[in-house]
Amino acid sequence: MVDTAIDIKEIRKQFPILHQQVNGKPLVYFDNAATSQKPQCVIDALTHYYNTDNANIHRGIHTLAERATSAFEDTRKTVAKFLNANETEEIIFTKGTTEGINLVASTFGRKFINTGDEIIVSGLEHHSNIVPWQMLCEEKGAVLKVIPVNEKGELIFDEYVKLLSDKTKLVSVNYISNALGTINPVKEIISEAHKFGAKVLIDAAQAAPHVKMDVKALDCDFLAFSAHKVYGPTGVGALYGKRALLEAMPPYQGGGEMIKDVSFSGTTYNDIPYKFEAGTPNIGEVIAFKSAIDFVENLGQENIAQHEDELMAYANDLLKDVDGFTPVGTAGKKASVISFLIDGVHPFDLGQLLDARGIAVRTGHHCAQPLMEFFNIEGTVRASFSVYNTKEEIKYFVDSLKAVIKMFK
Ligand SMILES: *Cc1c(COP(=O)(O)O)cnc(C)c1O
Repeated sequence: MVDTAIDIKEIRKQFPILHQQVNGKPLVYFDNAATSQKPQCVIDALTHYYNTDNANIHRGIHTLAERATSAFEDTRKTVAKFLNANETEEIIFTKGTTEGINLVASTFGRKFINTGDEIIVSGLEHHSNIVPWQMLCEEKGAVLKVIPVNEKGELIFDEYVKLLSDKTKLVSVNYISNALGTINPVKEIISEAHKFGAKVLIDAAQAAPHVKMDVKALDCDFLAFSAHKVYGPTGVGALYGKRALLEAMPPYQGGGEMIKDVSFSGTTYNDIPYKFEAGTPNIGEVIAFKSAIDFVENLGQENIAQHEDELMAYANDLLKDVDGFTPVGTAGKKASVISFLIDGVHPFDLGQLLDARGIAVRTGHHCAQPLMEFFNIEGTVRASFSVYNTKEEIKYFVDSLKAVIKMFK
């Protein structure tokens, strides 16, 4: 059980929340696909901001305003590098993935989607990447097409290619499914869409903590992710968009910061990215977001992925011996999510009994009801692993699962 490259003890020390008992047992946190825990450097960055630098950004000329503005804009540079964007101005701060997708739906959508146009999503999507498009289609008389999924929980690529046509204006798919962990062939999805001139949005909420993202190599038109799933604070995220597209899109919300000049005879909008950032943002959280990315880059994304792959392999091996264990989603390429059912035990009961043993897993539809419908189930139990999880925790989880199942036999 030797972990390579990652010093797990050292990493765990950086996460204060992990060192507590829940229901009389040491906490085992396996709900990382819902949100990750935060290292001390992120918590410190937040506290530091409120203790020393709090001021509104961009318009002030006093020292605190300058400090806050400079730290805020430093995060933008860090995110641009993290995504390998061409330009810092291509990064827009949002509340998270959901807002990033809604921003594209209501600005790009408002201007470029018309009656009869088609938008393609997949059967694997989070509700955040379904509902904004349904709303847009309803408003515009556009049509939503869905890439079908196979029994393993993979997109059927040939069926995707058949859906594409000159009517396709946008394809919006996730990089990694939150419900099943499937890693989608996004690069191929993007290049096929571009053959028809369609733009592509990548929902990278689950990819950000697990794979190295490169918007230039992918050639995606938009990419959205949330800070809170990649060790950062809640309430912030980033949307990448290609400059030419962002410039052609109308603003998102009206208010301060997004304008150049306001007059009752007409208002001129600010340049990108500010055109899309009306109102006072989550300044402290944006600043602390940088510390989260630094944390990931210091560890190295390949090392994090390798550690998580080892955890997955170990868990899959132990779970084979669990009575009635049925995995849901067995894609060839998967990130650190195990969604499953146990014959004869309701997921909700399992979740509660595991919680009584200090183990946090998620149960339910994972905001992907259409996918659950496809598998003809209401939901699953989902265990999702992160860099700070250990093989000892997985062993304890599987032993607990066996003990809990016995109670039902
Ligand atoms: C979590 C998640 C979202 C939504 O992210 P928010 O942070 O809640 O806005 C969207 N898509 C996927 C794949 C997710 O995992």
